[in-house]
Amino acid sequence: MKRFWKTLRVRLAIWNAGAVILTAMVTLIGLQQGVRWALLHEMDQLLIEDIEEITLTLKELSAAEFDNYTEELNRKAIVHRHHGWFVELLSRDQTLLWKSVATPETALPFPALKVDSRKPYTFENYRLVVRQLKSPIHNVEAIRVGSSLTFLSEDLAIIDRFVLMAAGFVLVLAPLSGFLLAGRTVRSIGDIIQTAARLRPSHLDERLPLRGTEDELDQLAKTVNGLLDRIATYLQQKRDFLANAAHELRTPLAAIRSSVEVALNSNRSVEEYQELLIDIIDEGSALETLVNQLLLISETEAEKINSDFGTVMFHEVVQKAIDMFVGVAETREITLEARIEKPLTVPGIRGHLRQLVNNLIDNAIKYTPTGGKVTVTLTAPHANLIHLDVQDNGIGIAPEDLPHVFDRFFRAERSRTRQQEIVGTGLGLSICQAVVSAHKGSITCHSSSESGTCFTVRLPRGENDISHSGV
Ligand code: ADP
Repeated sequence: MKRFWKTLRVRLAIWNAGAVILTAMVTLIGLQQGVRWALLHEMDQLLIEDIEEITLTLKELSAAEFDNYTEELNRKAIVHRHHGWFVELLSRDQTLLWKSVATPETALPFPALKVDSRKPYTFENYRLVVRQLKSPIHNVEAIRVGSSLTFLSEDLAIIDRFVLMAAGFVLVLAPLSGFLLAGRTVRSIGDIIQTAARLRPSHLDERLPLRGTEDELDQLAKTVNGLLDRIATYLQQKRDFLANAAHELRTPLAAIRSSVEVALNSNRSVEEYQELLIDIIDEGSALETLVNQLLLISETEAEKINSDFGTVMFHEVVQKAIDMFVGVAETREITLEARIEKPLTVPGIRGHLRQLVNNLIDNAIKYTPTGGKVTVTLTAPHANLIHLDVQDNGIGIAPEDLPHVFDRFFRAERSRTRQQEIVGTGLGLSICQAVVSAHKGSITCHSSSESGTCFTVRLPRGENDISHSGV
């Protein structure tokens, strides 16, 4: 029960009923007061007109005609009996000279008025207007016209009854209709809650229903559906990644195990044992490389990476990578050329940026046949941007493989099916992309079988290129 009162439906209904009841009450009371004022004003106007007419007629009357006129006033009083209309003619000291029929017996008060004033006033159940004349006419120095308020009160009582009835209707209907309307609104929220409650990380294929009304609730459902799509894709990527990682780890582990089994199978010479141990070391380093790469990927994915940023002398990083690979390139008879603009700094993590440059140069050398050429160019085309190009004239990447080279564990057919398979994990470029995007940069690739491959990295340039505080 307590929960019922806390529901959005009930709260919406209460707010709605409150607003409707308040508006209706203000309108009804305003209407009632307006009608009361209009009726009273109408009555006042009639009384003022009457007193005006009597004054004018008295002025024009001869003494002989006075009695006839009072007869006429009596007739009028009889005609308007049901309104309680009456006239009094008074002397200066308020002595009654004449009164019409239907004049109340009670002594009516005589307010101190300015001469000629006709301000209406109320006494008990009567509305009265008095006029003090400037000079007496046939001894009459003041005229009072009045009317009973009973008639008006009856009209007002009818209006009051109507107002009460209308208020009663509003009091019942407003909460009821509010409750029904709120029910329609919150029904879709209920659908969203139910569907969301059914969702599980392992079962994310259900989506919230759209009603096609394009209102805020539809927008909410669309946003939640979009979020679910992204979560589902993300989880699928994670699953693929885990499966691929396990697969890649299994190969060197199986190789180590079989080497050990072979060693244990029978007695071997010292040379044979040494050969097997060297195989195990090779497989162990392959495993180490893979595990390091996996670690690097999870590190670059972590958002806290930004807080570890420092100023990295990027030209130094590139130069060191060139120095490191020059020997390998020579062995493979590949020309390794570098054009490095300096000083160029990048806000970031030195270790990760070094991995980025190493991966690109390593690939360029790996996928370029003997006698080829690799050119590394570091420039700053804009004040706040640096470009690193790693160009080779190697085997190139097929157009259909280009969109996938940055995918984790992707290895192009070309690199696998060559007579001598090129060793790799398929993680190098995805690490490059993760590092570049963590550094708020971009990486692109252009390639053709004729001219080879060129990777271009764009990174934001550090503000202080003169400082030498490497991270
Ligand atoms: P790998 O460990 O296989 O080198 P990468 O992620 O570094 O993994 O590269 C993914 C694939 O992209 C490689 O297997 C190769 O097919 C292709 N590739 C990368 N760099 C080059 C390049 N410079 N020339 C030709 N192919 C390349």
